[in-house]
Amino acid sequence: MLAKKVNTPQTGSLGRGRKRCPSCNAIVAARAVKCRFCEYNFLDKPRRGKTARGTVADPASVEKLVAFINAHGGLENAKKVISDVRGLVEYLGSLDLIAQQLNVVGLIKQQVKE
Ligand SMILES: [Zn+2]
Repeated sequence: MLAKKVNTPQTGSLGRGRKRCPSCNAIVAARAVKCRFCEYNFLDKPRRGKTARGTVADPASVEKLVAFINAHGGLENAKKVISDVRGLVEYLGSLDLIAQQLNVVGLIKQQVKE
């Protein structure tokens, strides 16, 4: 059994005692409370629901997103639009606002199409 220990902080693979930073994708120690690369705070991580940052996954927003996806003929088309506004998630910090933005984008696209 190969027991070679190599310290590769950024490119290491996930394993025991490791976790991936959701912010910058770096592999960090599982016990780390803060990413040492981007300073992401793991303790801020919500357990689904509201956070101080306003990452909200409330049913109303999800419903809007689903409606949006359906209105755009499926996930693939909707994804393109969503990727356009993905940056807004960080910028606005609220899925509810994003959903509003998505509706706006949807309206724009519909009008452009005609
Ligand atoms: Zn990070």
